[in-house]
Amino acid sequence: MKVTLYIREHGTRRCRKAKPGRNYPMGTIYVLRYGSTWETLPPNLDSTEATVARLNKEIVLFTGKEAAKPKPKPKNDVLTLDILIDIYLTTGRAAEKNWRKHTLQCYTLALKLFRQSCTKTYLHEIDGDDLRRFKVYLRTLKTSTGKKIDDRTVYNHFNNVVSFLNAHGKRDLVPQSEWPKYEEKKVVCYDEDTMSRLLQFADEDERDVLEFFLGVGFRNGEGTHVEWRDIDFKNREIHTYSKLERYGWEVKDTEQRIIGISDRLAERLQARHKRHPGDGLVFPNTKGNPDTHLLRVIKRVALRAGLNCGHCVGTYERKRVPCSTHPVCKKWILHTMRKTWATFQARSGASVPTIQADLGHSSLVTTLKYLAAEDRRSAQRRAQINAADARVRQHIAQITTSHTNHKGPVLLPPSGSLAISGVQAF
Ligand SMILES: [Zn+2]
Repeated sequence: MKVTLYIREHGTRRCRKAKPGRNYPMGTIYVLRYGSTWETLPPNLDSTEATVARLNKEIVLFTGKEAAKPKPKPKNDVLTLDILIDIYLTTGRAAEKNWRKHTLQCYTLALKLFRQSCTKTYLHEIDGDDLRRFKVYLRTLKTSTGKKIDDRTVYNHFNNVVSFLNAHGKRDLVPQSEWPKYEEKKVVCYDEDTMSRLLQFADEDERDVLEFFLGVGFRNGEGTHVEWRDIDFKNREIHTYSKLERYGWEVKDTEQRIIGISDRLAERLQARHKRHPGDGLVFPNTKGNPDTHLLRVIKRVALRAGLNCGHCVGTYERKRVPCSTHPVCKKWILHTMRKTWATFQARSGASVPTIQADLGHSSLVTTLKYLAAEDRRSAQRRAQINAADARVRQHIAQITTSHTNHKGPVLLPPSGSLAISGVQAF
């Protein structure tokens, strides 16, 4: 039913239709008309509020339900920081942005650490010095193995706390120049011969894991949540999508993807399905849940294949051990298999937009970072680097060949130079 907004004239008490978009003076009485009903709105509304009341009434009449009244905003000044943080992580920003479990964990930890470093009670008391103290505090923190937390983690914690403060109107407390700094790591990928050696040292089940990640370029979670029904053996495609109900897992950026796989990988997976029948997960753990430790498979095989770096130390069964004797080498990262997948695709002529789409990157910049090394090692780029080097070399060659009768090369001034004999040029 249509609802019309009227204004009531003070003297005559006659109603006339309100002109849309017109601002009537404060104190104007607004009336809604629907069917034969006239409803006077509460006093002291402005034109916008009256229009909202009209629309709300239409919704109520249409749905039969009372429209949700906007909740009065809690005053940030009277709520403690702890309460504000709690709201932020539950019904506030976390709900608004539909944070994934991992994101929520990151924010929760960052804000917890911030509360440890800051003794103030209310938001309005927070200033730049609290963020400076927080930065110093983060640098003193150690990981469970006694190492200092790395610069990137310090930055992330700091950034998350700044986002919280920004959301509550506390902006620009410290200039960007005072933010924690970190060195951006270059994306690396594994070589073809390294991958080949790794595969040779894997048993059938291990090889399934390795070849799967190398053959689809999935993120860790995407791989661990693949079920047999997601694989289309006929068209040789794998579908990745959120599995909230079953596993509480969501694909990043809420974007489903379908990836083509090689004929050989399809055959390998089919063989795996024969060994592990059923329609559940392709890589389950012993309890039938997604195996969250697939990286261990790679680390185990890498040690066996003698592919560890031999210089790093990791934790194995709660002990600090060298990678030369234990499957702990930091060189082996599941995500690097994804970068390797992208590199091999590029090397085989796949276009950057295709690679971007298959990786599920929302930004082309990320994909290009993955492929930077490939550009550096490309035949064309190698030729350029060698050509640049040859520019100097060619002159050395000229000197040595034209003065072979002398004892050693005589350095002549370059042609066109002002350094003519007798004239000292400074
Ligand atoms: Zn190592």
